[in-house]
Amino acid sequence: MPYAAGHNAMDTGVVGILGAGTMGAGIAQVAATAGWTVRLMDLDASRVQDAIDAIGRRLDRLVEKGRLPASERDAVVRRLVPASKADELADCDLLLEAIVEDPDAKAQALRALVPHLKPACILATNTSSLSVTELGRRIGVGPRLVGLHFFNPAPVMPLVELVAGQETAAEVLDRAGVVARAWGKTVARAADTPGFIVNRVARPYYLEAFRMLEEGLAPAEQIDGAMTRLGGFRMGPLELSDLIGQDVNAATTRSIWDRLGRPARLEPCPLQEALVRAGQLGQKTGRGVYRYRDGKRAGAAVAVAAGGPPPVELQRAAEQMAHVWVTEPAAPVEHVLAARVIAAIVAEARWARHEGVASADDIDAAMTLGVNYPAGPFAWEARIGRARIDALLAALERATGRGRYRPAPGTPPADL
Ligand code: NAD
Repeated sequence: MPYAAGHNAMDTGVVGILGAGTMGAGIAQVAATAGWTVRLMDLDASRVQDAIDAIGRRLDRLVEKGRLPASERDAVVRRLVPASKADELADCDLLLEAIVEDPDAKAQALRALVPHLKPACILATNTSSLSVTELGRRIGVGPRLVGLHFFNPAPVMPLVELVAGQETAAEVLDRAGVVARAWGKTVARAADTPGFIVNRVARPYYLEAFRMLEEGLAPAEQIDGAMTRLGGFRMGPLELSDLIGQDVNAATTRSIWDRLGRPARLEPCPLQEALVRAGQLGQKTGRGVYRYRDGKRAGAAVAVAAGGPPPVELQRAAEQMAHVWVTEPAAPVEHVLAARVIAAIVAEARWARHEGVASADDIDAAMTLGVNYPAGPFAWEARIGRARIDALLAALERATGRGRYRPAPGTPPADL
């Protein structure tokens, strides 16, 4: 059924949410808090009631903290309406799916619902890794489907990636953006490319850390410490990969690398893949990069022989970068650790911009609001100076000679 415009204003309305798991429940809370009526549906009806109960409990805590009036809490919960049949979604202005990350399941579920929706209802997918364009084509609703990629936990994380499929109608994209903003979110517009902005530009955070660990440049604790203490990140890359799960993290890297045509710079790290094969998946298995006892970190679980010091040229380039912002005392190798990770993130952000994934401003907003980076890659670039970053990337490329640190076209050398 073709998309037919209906509403202009989307300040309040009715949203159908398919999938009442982690993300569906979080997004339902966001929408209901913003005054929308939410029709919540799941293959497993018990998940719907569980989600409504969980939202109620989360709202109770907000009331206790004085951040939500008690009367408003009840109004929000009243706006959460379980739905069990497609017909109950007939008045929706927006249908958002947040079901299992399986293209067949998503296509099948949405195809079954579309005939029951009003023509003006727009469709959105919360997929993290699937192509919005392909999903839209499979369901036959390309112009009506948009990606609205929320981050976990949705009520807390301020970012939504607004993903334009190749066939998404401009008006649908605009309306979806208006809705996300009306729900209190900051929108970063992204093209329908692997990993969109956040999951792609974040790859080097983990990859570069694993490479440095594999090279024997420093032990895991020192790599993580450099990123939190000197880099300003909330969690080090290796401890974060243990929290996410080495299997999940490595699969995301591999999928994005594959779908981007296997560029050398995003090539999966053998050390991380070996952890996955060994079942050393991180916190959930009690061992990953680190060992865990009673949920607490208890030393490193990966021992790599110490490598030689970095080439002089590389050390000097890293020092020149780090001296721009590092004021606290640090070992010279820690300058290399922090500078390498930041340079690799900036390099990936430039590739993403070059390939039309998003603007520099949207990439910066996405990385600060979607994954809490202390600054956006282009803000770092402006502060540190492009030439300093390029000098480190060039030194890394000479040291490894594998095309991993090749800069994106269109970033000519700049003055120091
Ligand atoms: P989840 O497993 O917590 O929830 C999925 C829900 O979908 C379950 O309640 C399940 O019963 C239901 N479901 C499965 N098949 C269905 C169908 N055919 N019809 C109706 N309901 C069905 O998953 P999640 O973590 O909430 O992820 C949902 C989507 O959001 C995925 O596409 C995922 O990639 C994406 N996403 C997840 C995160 C995250 O951090 N968890 C972040 C951003 C995006």
